[in-house]
Amino acid sequence: MLTNYRRSAHQLAQLLYEQGIRSQKVLDAIALTPRHLFVDDVLQHKSYQNTALPIGLGQTISQPFMVARMTELLLQLTSPSAKILEIGTGSGYQSAILAQCFEHIYSVERIKALQWQAKSRLQKLDLFNVTMKHADGWQGWQANAPFGGIIVTAAAAEIPQALLAQLDEDGILLSPIGDREQHLVAVKRQGDSFISEKLEAVKFVPLVAGAID
Ligand code: SAH
Repeated sequence: MLTNYRRSAHQLAQLLYEQGIRSQKVLDAIALTPRHLFVDDVLQHKSYQNTALPIGLGQTISQPFMVARMTELLLQLTSPSAKILEIGTGSGYQSAILAQCFEHIYSVERIKALQWQAKSRLQKLDLFNVTMKHADGWQGWQANAPFGGIIVTAAAAEIPQALLAQLDEDGILLSPIGDREQHLVAVKRQGDSFISEKLEAVKFVPLVAGAID
């Protein structure tokens, strides 16, 4: 356990500010969240570096800059009261940051062991406004739709249609799209139209169909 994590987390927030993150809400959440609790013990010394790290089962905890950037974009394009769906809970770190910026988060993870660990981490941190489910995120979460914002933290070749269908009017979906070359894409729903904008190049693990134990 890092005893001085507050200082490290604060320095990470400062670095993200220098790299262009301007939302105070997001920077505060980064500064307050013990990222070392979201990685394995052997990687704790790297947990406040601005890098993605392995979390087992071939998956990664996203790079802090990308977590902050996607959360900031969602805040700019939706509102803090928007109901948010996250696809790809992974370590739960992005969920923890979202939980401090929005009223309620729904998060879906296809790998049971990761979902289970993420759930206990968020409980430990008293973040009770995240509802999690072990399922295939390609299907979204119909029972809680529509969502004001949907954030996908794994890359598909194309945006799953079920996710677009679960967007609320004026809702925003943010997702990495592509195979070897990926871009962050923002899609806005207006009635039955979907207006998409291609943003910066990114690198995420693939969005895989089907849930596993
Ligand atoms: N936001 C996470 C990122 C984890 S990596 C974090 O910061 O820790 C992406 C996650 O998406 C992985 O855990 C992977 O298992 C999950 N994933 C991939 N395909 C999925 C699918 N179809 N449904 C739900 N989760 C999926």
